[in-house]
Amino acid sequence: MYRQSDFEIRVLILAPTGRDAALLSKTLALTDIPTEICTSSSNLLDSLSCGAAAVLVAEEAVSPTDVNQIGAWLMSQPPWSDIPFIVLTSTGRSSHATSLKALELQGLGNVTFLERPVRPETIEAAVHTALRARRRQYEIRLRQETLTLAYADLEQFAYAASHDLQEPIRNMAIYSDLLIREYHGQLDEKGLTFLRYVQDGAERMEKLVADLLAYTKAATIADEIPEPVGSGKPLQGALLNLADAIRQNEVEVTYGPLPAVRIREIHLQQLFQNLISNAIKYRSARKLKISITAAQDDGQWLWGVHDNGIGIKPEYHKRVFGLFKRLHGSDEYSGTGIGLAICQRIVERYRGRIWVDSKPEQGSSFFFTLPA
Ligand code: ADP
Repeated sequence: MYRQSDFEIRVLILAPTGRDAALLSKTLALTDIPTEICTSSSNLLDSLSCGAAAVLVAEEAVSPTDVNQIGAWLMSQPPWSDIPFIVLTSTGRSSHATSLKALELQGLGNVTFLERPVRPETIEAAVHTALRARRRQYEIRLRQETLTLAYADLEQFAYAASHDLQEPIRNMAIYSDLLIREYHGQLDEKGLTFLRYVQDGAERMEKLVADLLAYTKAATIADEIPEPVGSGKPLQGALLNLADAIRQNEVEVTYGPLPAVRIREIHLQQLFQNLISNAIKYRSARKLKISITAAQDDGQWLWGVHDNGIGIKPEYHKRVFGLFKRLHGSDEYSGTGIGLAICQRIVERYRGRIWVDSKPEQGSSFFFTLPA
């Protein structure tokens, strides 16, 4: 875990004359605030990279280029970081040039202007406020790191649990099946009913752990975006796996030209499979029609899986992508509530988005974007 270093509690001072800087440093030294004097703006950037709690800078010590460079460095900082800058403004009347500079400096984000001549107590108070703000940021960093670690632990636990549970559940399914088939005559109706409950439970658990495993695996998809692959094969793979359900329900599946996209085949197949199997599961009494579309959109491919099924009320359009979020009981529709969460994870790993547009009783369109 990240430990706050000595560098991270110091105040960096950039003032044009050595005398100014020494004076500021001396003022702060009286209050036990550690300081470091930077001799140039590039020196300031080097020191910032090692860590700092705040920066005290005289306005005339930085040129517009320096401000740009500092701004670029700040952009590379993690979201929790918002380092406070205290700017001592130039003496004399403000001109167009000085107000422009003030505007540029303001762009650095967390900036406080102190007009000179400034009293030592004012500097001291401003620095204390800045340090307090920075301490809060360090606390947020610590909390974020703790959360990230806890989250990684949970993911690891979910992965290990779902992986290791597969075999015992499989055994339950196999042996309850064998019992029903081979000892059918030795059990009365009540015994058979109990056994069927065991069988049903094992089947549901099998599906649940398989989905959980797929969900945790989706978190480990490599970051780099692969070379484009044809999308025909993954779609055919998904349709083949769902062939029985498609035939039994006389589903009409249509699709247009299928482009090449930058995603691993296995993940695209999983997306199609989850979305098409949902379209089949949540069908209405009408003849089910599913269409798959792809269109180029702002340098990406926008995919759509459309159905004319039961649809989803607008207030649930976001919620359905949550883990274990289901809109129906398992007596109505079987399911684990993980399918769409897996889709969301996969799409987000490829820096895309997924959402649904749907009207109850009319049908749903699930859209997702993928890199072109
Ligand atoms: P599951 O289908 O296992 O419940 P999902 O994560 O795949 O889990 O879907 C979450 C919920 O979203 C479903 O329970 C269902 O209520 C709703 N849903 C998903 N796809 C559709 C669809 N094509 N039409 C209507 N509702 C859907």
